[in-house]
Amino acid sequence: MSPTALAESEIMRQASYTFRARVARTWRNGQVFLAGDAAHQTPPFVGQGLGSGLRDAFNLTWKLADVLDGAAPEVLLDTYESERKPHATRIILMALVVGWCLTGGQDRLASLRRALVTAACRIPRIAHALPDASPALSRGPLVQRRGFQSRLNGTVFPQPWVRTPDGARRLDDLLGTGYALITRGRLRDHTATRLAATGLTHIDVDDLACVPSTNPSPSAVMRSQHTYAVLLRPDRVVMASARTSGDVGDLLAAYQRVHRTDLQEIAV
Ligand SMILES: Cc1cc2nc3c(=O)[nH]c(=O)nc-3n(C[C@H](O)[C@H](O)[C@H](O)COP(=O)(O)OP(=O)(O)OC[C@H]3O[C@@H](n4cnc5c(N)ncnc54)[C@H](O)[C@@H]3O)c2cc1C
Repeated sequence: MSPTALAESEIMRQASYTFRARVARTWRNGQVFLAGDAAHQTPPFVGQGLGSGLRDAFNLTWKLADVLDGAAPEVLLDTYESERKPHATRIILMALVVGWCLTGGQDRLASLRRALVTAACRIPRIAHALPDASPALSRGPLVQRRGFQSRLNGTVFPQPWVRTPDGARRLDDLLGTGYALITRGRLRDHTATRLAATGLTHIDVDDLACVPSTNPSPSAVMRSQHTYAVLLRPDRVVMASARTSGDVGDLLAAYQRVHRTDLQEIAV
């Protein structure tokens, strides 16, 4: 806008935007839970404010549903804060660092730093090595902390479009709303029998016809992490992984434990 046009303009509304880096000390008080900006506020530099709030909602709603249905113990709800608070805090710290790199200081050194950071981020190998805007959830009762430590544990599973007889659907639509077992191949007979008893949804990703996209297919992601099977939570976070087909029984056991015992006793 030219200076003349600006001078002739009438300002009808204005607001000063102040951003903060804050995380609530407590996210739960009895039956009241904080989520979204009420629980955490971030500077805008990595564009994750709304994303963090949506992750809160995904994390909390399936736990509430399971507890209200009587499918899981009430202590499951305590994992909401223990999972989400450190995750939201890490994103806020990341936003502070990126914000400082992009806007901190007005001197020549700061200008040079900004130019260097911008140029470095354009180099594919450096951009690829930067931390994901959404890091994995930390190990805990609902993210396997013993046994096979696949790098997929705690991450959100890929969500490709999959070809179906009626067109194409998202993998989430095929998985439904509960826990799911994903394998890279057929189950052994005795594991298939145990699976049937649990009622878990099972998908063999080698049978999926994924629509080609820039995102890697679930099969490729699992192969790259030497992972044969994963147990997905209802929020599609990888709860536990198995390296071989012979270890899939451990995932079924982990699923059964979370559905019938106090979480203090769970040793997934
Ligand atoms: C300028 C700007 C740019 C942003 N850009 C991005 C971005 O690029 N990417 C991103 O992910 N995030 C971005 N964000 C952050 C994002 O907008 C927020 O994180 C998100 O809107 C928070 O959602 P929320 O539902 O938790 O809270 P809010 O959106 O604040 O919703 C709370 C609602 O509660 C209502 N309310 C408050 N008090 C009461 C009451 N007593 N009774 C009834 N209702 C009440 C409010 O009116 C409001 O509608 C941006 C934010 C701003 C300000």
